[in-house]
Parts: sequence; C-alpha cells; structure tokens
Amino acid sequence: MRMTVGIVHSLARWLLPLRCRVCAQRGHQGMDLCPACHAAAQTNLPACPRCALPLPAGEVSVCAACLSAPTALLACHAAWRYGPTLDALVRRYKFEQDLAAGAVLAGLMLQQRPPWLAGQVLVPVPLHRQRLAQRGYDQAHELAAQLAQATGLPSGHLLRRERATAAQSGLDRQQRRKNLRRAFVALPGPLPPSVVLVDDVMTTGATLEAAAQALQRAGVVQVRAWVAARTP
Ligand SMILES: [Zn+2]
Ligand SMILES: [Zn+2]
Repeated sequence: MRMTVGIVHSLARWLLPLRCRVCAQRGHQGMDLCPACHAAAQTNLPACPRCALPLPAGEVSVCAACLSAPTALLACHAAWRYGPTLDALVRRYKFEQDLAAGAVLAGLMLQQRPPWLAGQVLVPVPLHRQRLAQRGYDQAHELAAQLAQATGLPSGHLLRRERATAAQSGLDRQQRRKNLRRAFVALPGPLPPSVVLVDDVMTTGATLEAAAQALQRAGVVQVRAWVAARTP
C-alpha cells in the first residue's frame, strides 16, 4: 500500500499554527490560507457542466462547443478558476514540494463540491512513474486521498500512465490530444460503473479526456471529473 503524505500532514496539523501558503499570514477556517488570499480566489461559477469553461452570468446550460462535439466526460466540475491564489497554491504544490499547499487545494475543492458525488469512486489521474520518481509524490493521488477521507467516498487507482508524455504547455488543443493518445490504460480487475477523475488543474481538458477514454475502453460507463482549478 502506498503511504499517503497527506496523512502525515494532517497529523502535523495538530501541532503547528495555520499559516497561509501564499503570503505566510495567519490561516483561517482550519486551512493554511489567510482570509485575504481566500477572498482573492474566484469560484468557477457559472461554468459549463460538461467542460467547466466559464459561462456568462446567468447561463447554466451546456456550452456550444460541448453540444457540437460531445466528449468522453459526462460532467466536469472545476471548483475554482486558475487565477489569484489558485495559481500560487498549484505552483507551490507541484513544483516546490509544498504538500501543505496541496492540503489547501483539497480544502478549497471541498468548499465547492460537485452536485453529483453520491455513490462515486474517486480516481486520481496518475503521473508517469518517471515523473513520480522525480517529484517524490503524485499530486492527484494526494488530493484524491484527502477528498476521500473528507467525503467518505472510496478512492482507487484504476489507471496507469503508459507513456511519459511530452510537456503539454505550448501545445494547442489538437496537439495535446495527439500527445496524449493512448497515454493511459485501465488496470486489470473489476471496474466500478461510474467514477470521478481527480486532478489539480484542467487546461484544455485533453488529459482528462484521455483518462476518461481509457476507462471507457475498459468498461466504465460514466466518467466525471473534479479538479481544483480551471484555466479560463
Ligand atoms: Zn495569504
Ligand atoms: Zn462545455
């Protein structure tokens, strides 16, 4: 069984004062996030329920792009917009080994839960083993473990990343999809009929789409996604 760094972090939580992971001021609401940085974060509402792209105020329906080109994802919920506070937390979490920033991201995701969580199984979008060896932890695994602990939902590793895909930044939507084709495979064994992919940031959605397709090829009927932040 894989050790979850998040559990070690939640033990440390009892011993250390709350400290904002963005600006180092005192945290609040049980999180390492100060009221000002919390207030600067933007919720991702309203947004398309399929692709999580922001919609004009008052809109609630599926966006035109999703209507014309359905994807493997039945729904996608991005709790927050990738912008003030979220960009700093994600950077610290992914690139500066700051696991406490990841716990804040999980806390923020829990404040903006999707409406369709009941009965789901949480499935982290895995890193390739080379990337895992470099970083020392899998950011989506840590998030999913903390979300599972807080919601009582099961979480499981159902996917393997087959290829160490080239860095996605700088690629357009089409190139990202090509880069990710067959990047994931479902692990052998029985799969639940309905799962929720968990990841930190959604940019074009190509990674989530590739993961969802792998699960569907293996027989999962409904795949949704819950991410911390969506780039607009
Ligand atoms: Zn702060
Ligand atoms: Zn959409």
